[in-house]
Amino acid sequence: MLVDAHTHVFCWGENPADGYLSERTRKSWLTYLLMKLIGIAREPGETLSDKTRSRLLRQVHESRLDRCIVLAQDAVYREDGSRDDAATHFYVSNDYVLDLARRSDRILAGCSINPWRSDALAELERCRAAGSRLVKIHTAIQGVDPSLARFDPFYALARDLGVVLMFHTGYEHSCTVRSQQFTDPTRLARPLDHGGTVIAAHCGTCAWFDPENYYPRFIRIMQQHDNLYGDTAIMANLLRWSSLRRLSGEPADLRGRIVHGSDYPFPPARLPYLNRIGLFPPERRNPLDLDLRIKESFNFGPGYGDQVLRLMGLV
Ligand SMILES: [Zn+2]
Repeated sequence: MLVDAHTHVFCWGENPADGYLSERTRKSWLTYLLMKLIGIAREPGETLSDKTRSRLLRQVHESRLDRCIVLAQDAVYREDGSRDDAATHFYVSNDYVLDLARRSDRILAGCSINPWRSDALAELERCRAAGSRLVKIHTAIQGVDPSLARFDPFYALARDLGVVLMFHTGYEHSCTVRSQQFTDPTRLARPLDHGGTVIAAHCGTCAWFDPENYYPRFIRIMQQHDNLYGDTAIMANLLRWSSLRRLSGEPADLRGRIVHGSDYPFPPARLPYLNRIGLFPPERRNPLDLDLRIKESFNFGPGYGDQVLRLMGLV
């Protein structure tokens, strides 16, 4: 089995209950560039959200992948547990990805729950009952410091339900953030101490121009906790062009806890990997396949392509 543990869908906002991008995000140069790069205008569908969903379903079904985890993106919440729509720039509802998983047997729903929300525990139980075995927390965008003691009941429930917690680690560049410091991988010690499975998305990597690099801290905390894993999402991007080589040079026990993730629809770069994949790799027509091809050319452990299914209790 081949699994992509980290893909995204987004909604433009025609039906805000499904999901939306804020006006600021819609007008950002990065959103504009991404929409051009992926050729969304040519995709069939009435609305931009329809086109985005249809492109995802088509490319998942055309790819070599057996399963894709499509992630929701919860809103920003205030410290009193209430939702802050004005501060939310990227939102995808859990029902939207749960519905995608019902439409396609190749899609697994990765729900997203901001642990600040007053109904976080109930939502975790609801998502698990609806079939989601992995929940994403976006530390930077959702304003979540994973090291806070007040999230202990949430971490304990995730462990008891067998739900994998995926945290964003490393500086975030695609959307407005609350704090980059929350993406420090060593802050994951708190959820890890509860004993459940945790995935540090992006392995703490930052771009070459960021003021800090959290990768060394990712390595340190990987050495301290056997229940910590890392995913390779966005690591075939130009801004992190040397990160895959570095990660694949780590000791075998650490490499063995790396799982495949693309960060689709962000496309991989080909330029830094020409000597590995050639000038015109056949996979270039499908960004999911191209990303997988690039990462398969590095030496990660034997579980790279499918161990996330075991972590989720699906095999
Ligand atoms: Zn991502």
